[in-house]
Amino acid sequence: MVRKPIVVSLAVVASLLVSALGVGSVAMARGGTPGAVGIGDPYVPNEGNGGYQVRRYDLDLRFNPDTDRLQGVATIEATATQSLSAFNLDLYGLVVDSATVDGVAATVSRAPREMTVQPAVGITDGDPFTVVVTYAGKPQILNDPDLGKSGWFNTSDGATIVGEPEAGMFWFPVNEHPSDKAKICTKIAVPKGLQAVSNGLPERAPITRNGWTTFKWCAEDPMASYLATLSIGTWRFDRMRTSSGIPVLNYVDRGFPKSADRVLGRAPEIIDFFESKFGRYPFEAAGGIVDNYRSYYALENQTRPTYDKTLVGWRGFTPTVAHELSHQWYGDSVALERWRDIWLNEGFATYAEWLWVEHDGGPSVAEQFAIAYSRPSDSPFWALNVSDPGYANLFDGPIYSRGGMTLYALRLKVGAPTLNKVLQQWAHRYANSNARTGDFKRLAERVSGRSLDAFFTEWVVDGVKPADPR
Ligand SMILES: [Zn+2]
Repeated sequence: MVRKPIVVSLAVVASLLVSALGVGSVAMARGGTPGAVGIGDPYVPNEGNGGYQVRRYDLDLRFNPDTDRLQGVATIEATATQSLSAFNLDLYGLVVDSATVDGVAATVSRAPREMTVQPAVGITDGDPFTVVVTYAGKPQILNDPDLGKSGWFNTSDGATIVGEPEAGMFWFPVNEHPSDKAKICTKIAVPKGLQAVSNGLPERAPITRNGWTTFKWCAEDPMASYLATLSIGTWRFDRMRTSSGIPVLNYVDRGFPKSADRVLGRAPEIIDFFESKFGRYPFEAAGGIVDNYRSYYALENQTRPTYDKTLVGWRGFTPTVAHELSHQWYGDSVALERWRDIWLNEGFATYAEWLWVEHDGGPSVAEQFAIAYSRPSDSPFWALNVSDPGYANLFDGPIYSRGGMTLYALRLKVGAPTLNKVLQQWAHRYANSNARTGDFKRLAERVSGRSLDAFFTEWVVDGVKPADPR
């Protein structure tokens, strides 16, 4: 994520943040117990759910921008990690019509951001099961007083979905946490004349029938649900390839100036550069979406980052594209296991952005470090523990800037070739997986052959300005 530096006034929607306590306390049935309401991440107690892991989501959707109504059937293939009498899915602001588990009707109860499914027969630990949920309604935006807006943004000609740490629950029932990655395929019908774009590649050519056009997209690799996206509108489309052959599919709202296409059009060059630094691009496709909505941030949606209207024409747009593309390695492929380690996403993307800016003829990485490091030691900037910042500070400046400085300081400590090796092995070893700060420290220690305990404590834990590493 990159936030556009604009002061946003945020309306508090406390009523929508009501916790879902009590949901999931369905009476025990046939041996199993209810899965937990949350996946166990203290930053987001209601996010994700306990008792199962999802393998695949198949979404079959219809959206009409005239009424803002979404209709959906979600088929979810999962495996029980405990014997379950009931389990939860995260779903926000939509109405569930019915659900089945392995083809048999199940009972559903709802809380503001949770649905509880009680199957007719309990599910045995280790067993695969398939849930089908039929739902509909007007998808919503959640305005978090600390983190800003996430969800379904209606536009003049359609809609775009973005959000972090949540985005899936606004449009499908989901185990909403990056530690449960799954494959996602999206089939969506929109009124003829509109086009729908999602992650990965189109699985087939669109089909128009009775005034509706149906698109089908699939992303090959598992993804965190907040990285799933869908944009509906009318686009200028551009298809390119990186030197390594990765297809790049870019979509720009037709209302925007061509300068936006030119910025997105630098993606192949940026990916080529990052492949020389971080190793092979991790997915089967790349690209971007620029749409006519205001979130005041860009998001690294897997294979296809999304940019809002406030970025168009901004001089920071190209570095932002570099930032989001670098997240494909660091944040998307190597994803968080828990939200407190967010610097592993944002610090890495900041460092990558510095590398790109230097490569593109801007200030050197050393100069960009110097500017960031020049903050006085009594600045509150240095007080944040960036490896455990607290939920409200997930996207604060130090997560990005001190995170990026940490990698540069590590480069000064172990040497540039060793840091490159660490970054490449990080992307390779944890590809399509999840990791924590401790995993990164151990890898850096193994590759460099040095103890880095004191280094990481100084750079990502202590609330004081680290000694000058230069
Ligand atoms: Zn970011």
